[in-house]
Amino acid sequence: MRLLPLFAAGLLLLSGCAGAPSREPPQRVSPPAPRPSPAPPPTRPGITPRPGAVAASPPGATGIRFIRVLLPGETSGVVLEGETIRAWGVDGRLAAEATGRVTLAAVGERIRWNGSRLLGDTLDVAGAPDLRVGSREVAGRVRLLARKGELLAVAVVPLEAYVAAVLSREAPPRFHPEALAALAVAVRTYAVGAAAKPRDPEYDVVGSVEDQVFDGMDGVAAAFREAADRTRGLVVRYRGEPARTVYHSTCGGRTEDAGSAWGKDVPYLRAQPCDDCADSPVYRWEYRMPEAEARRVAKALGVPPGKDLRIVVTGRTPTGRASRVRISSGGVSRELQAAEFRKAAGYGKVRSLKMEIVPAAGEWRVTGEGWGHGVGMCQFGANGMAKRGAGFRGILARYYPGSEIGGETP
Ligand SMILES: [Zn+2]
Repeated sequence: MRLLPLFAAGLLLLSGCAGAPSREPPQRVSPPAPRPSPAPPPTRPGITPRPGAVAASPPGATGIRFIRVLLPGETSGVVLEGETIRAWGVDGRLAAEATGRVTLAAVGERIRWNGSRLLGDTLDVAGAPDLRVGSREVAGRVRLLARKGELLAVAVVPLEAYVAAVLSREAPPRFHPEALAALAVAVRTYAVGAAAKPRDPEYDVVGSVEDQVFDGMDGVAAAFREAADRTRGLVVRYRGEPARTVYHSTCGGRTEDAGSAWGKDVPYLRAQPCDDCADSPVYRWEYRMPEAEARRVAKALGVPPGKDLRIVVTGRTPTGRASRVRISSGGVSRELQAAEFRKAAGYGKVRSLKMEIVPAAGEWRVTGEGWGHGVGMCQFGANGMAKRGAGFRGILARYYPGSEIGGETP
């Protein structure tokens, strides 16, 4: 079902910083893989039980659904912190215990505990009262896996905690509660869709821009928890399946068709007029690209730049976004996807493909509208709608037309 590049999410709007770096969706390429069947969780006094469901919890077992998030970071080793830290092997037996701080490293297919003991290739770790993995506070447990000398840390996070945490990186807390609620549903839908076809037998999503950024539970503002809470369990469905609820910062007046952006039509990802994002700080933008930077980009894209460097938009989608760009100099001319040009120039500089590029004295003047790929929900548009009185259901219906909102399990 991953026919499309499953382009994560949107872009960072954090901290009211309108100039926050844009990110564009990389492709998800890993094939679906079978989920391991979880062992029943043994319970232990004094510390919460081992996550039997290091895979997602069996439906109805606890009422809590988990998502398995690969924590990005160093793979050479990991530092765990907690008052009490306990680790169980896959057989469910307590393998090790520590207080305060533990350093784990992979040695081939085994895990070294605190520089000395060699344990098996898989450990389930829990902390009391909580657990930190590197810089992140995780809400739940962590599975550690040694794979060919690399240590993977997979946080097993209650879905709603994950939604709130991701939301805290994808939207500013000053957004209207209805806009945050709409985004919470989009974030949850993405996660539920990904968990149905995990990236790897051991994890559902990566906690970085490849999927959605998960930085742990530190500093997740109340507004985000409330948005997750209010929409608990709700997802966007299309014909019964979780929809690909992509979103972006600002469409600049009209969202984009998935077909135009990624070459594959999706019935509910169609261009929509949107003037609700007009108060976005990046509704209109300008980037003055220095000559030296233009030369660097040209070179990176395979055109050795001379004095006669030309960069011209040669094709546009029906919504006016650049689809093709030609770069030429000397006898070399290359026409490429506009998205390639944008990537080379920097997503945070050429913020969208709704742009014009014109040579000026000693530089290139790039002017544009909006930020991000433009497909799906326009976050500032959602906020504008909410300010006009729309509820989260109305917002989702507008940006994912033809979809329905329902429970996580249909
Ligand atoms: Zn918009």
